[in-house]
Amino acid sequence: MDIFIEPIGRLINQFTKLPGVGKKTAQRYAYKIINMSAEEAAEFAAAITDAKRKVKYCKICGNFTENDVCDICRTRDKSTICVVKEPKDVIALEKLHEYKGVYHVLHGVINPMEGVGPNDIRIKELLARIDDGVKEVIMATNPDVEGEATAMYIARLLKPLGVNVTRLAHGIPIGSEIEYTDDVTLSRALMERKSI
Ligand SMILES: [Zn+2]
Repeated sequence: MDIFIEPIGRLINQFTKLPGVGKKTAQRYAYKIINMSAEEAAEFAAAITDAKRKVKYCKICGNFTENDVCDICRTRDKSTICVVKEPKDVIALEKLHEYKGVYHVLHGVINPMEGVGPNDIRIKELLARIDDGVKEVIMATNPDVEGEATAMYIARLLKPLGVNVTRLAHGIPIGSEIEYTDDVTLSRALMERKSI
C-alpha cells in the first residue's frame, strides 16, 4: 500500500520528473502546493500550461519566443551569429549585456556515442542563414569533447563560405558548461575569442 493518498502521490510523481528533484524534494514541493490557497495553486498550474502553450521556437535562430521570430532576431546586428547548444546558453550570454549580435541555437551537439549526427541538430539551418551580410560566426558550444568537435565540424563547413569563424577563448574550464561559467570568465572568453 502506498503511504500517500492518491492525489498527493500523483503530484509527488510529477515533481520527480524535474531535473535534480528526488523523492524527498518532490514530497516537500507537493506539500507546499497542498498548503497554497486555491488561487495560488491555480496560478501555479496555469503558469505551466500557459508556458507550454505559448512558448515556441524562433524560426530563424531556434531560441524560445512567443512569436514566429524572436526579439533578438528582429532587432539586433545580424552580421555576427553566436552558435550555442541550447536556449539556456543564450540566457548566460545575454546576462553579460555585451554581445550585440544574433544567435543560432543548435539544440544539441554532435555526439556519435548517443547517435546524434550532424543532421540531428540545426546545422543546415545555420548554413542557410549565411549570406554576404554575415561577417563572423562565434562558436560558443561547451568546451567539452562534443562541443569542440561540433565547433570544428561547423567551422569546416563555414570557411569555404568566406565567413570568419571564431571560438570563445579558453579560460572556460575544459569539460565545463557555458551555462555554469561565471560572468567574468564568460565575458572574457567572449571578448578574447579567436579565429578557428
Ligand atoms: Zn530568433
